[in-house]
Amino acid sequence: MHPQVLTEEIEETTQTPDFRGLAACNDDAGTWTDVFFSEDLYDIARAKHLCGSCPVKTRCLDGAIERREPSGVWGGELFLNGHVLAQKRRRGRPPKNRAAEVMVIDGQEVVVVPAVVSA
Ligand code: SF4
Repeated sequence: MHPQVLTEEIEETTQTPDFRGLAACNDDAGTWTDVFFSEDLYDIARAKHLCGSCPVKTRCLDGAIERREPSGVWGGELFLNGHVLAQKRRRGRPPKNRAAEVMVIDGQEVVVVPAVVSA
């Protein structure tokens, strides 16, 4: 192989590395796909938690913003119609008496029990 050709190939690889191989959500089996595109609040929290430890999080988020992703969790953020959602609410009217929820806080799953309010 001509040395000049080899040099050009290395530079091209350095400039545009394929970061999919580094993605925390990529296990080459699509195991996480349903979780990252779920509407379930627990799944969304799990996806965001996985993004938190992903080495390509910033690039992933920048790409999702640029592409105006229509849905899913990308770079630790939930997208809807090309925009980042601050938070997702459950469907329907909020219940009078909320049930306990599991949330991920600082990487730990925590059961959040609503405060008891006397009538
Ligand atoms: S930041 Fe999240 S969605 Fe993006 S590659 Fe990493 S794990 Fe996957």
